[in-house]
Amino acid sequence: MKGKSEIRDLARQRIRWLFKLAYDETRKGNYGRARRYAELIIRVAEKGKTRVPRSIKRSICKNCRVILIPGLTARVRIRSEGSKGSHVTVTCTLCGWMKRYYIKAGIYEKKGEGVNKGSKA
Ligand SMILES: [Zn+2]
Repeated sequence: MKGKSEIRDLARQRIRWLFKLAYDETRKGNYGRARRYAELIIRVAEKGKTRVPRSIKRSICKNCRVILIPGLTARVRIRSEGSKGSHVTVTCTLCGWMKRYYIKAGIYEKKGEGVNKGSKA
């Protein structure tokens, strides 16, 4: 029998792999397929009793489940608020859904998981 942590590890691996597939399909314009992968990611997380990593969660449109890629399926606006961090608005260009969140200053250096390179706003 597999241990709980092992199942969780497997779930996390699958999530990362599915996200890569979803991302690739989105880039090819196969939004239907990308959405199916995104739904799988959520289901795998539930079954594996783990959470979808924040960086991945933020890249999935909550409304239509497409992968949000800046310049392709998403419009990203960043407003810097000095030492407090930055305010980010992401708009899904497919369904118009919008979300807003804060990035604390220094988070990119700390985690090294910036979603997009440079500051394309
Ligand atoms: Zn959407």
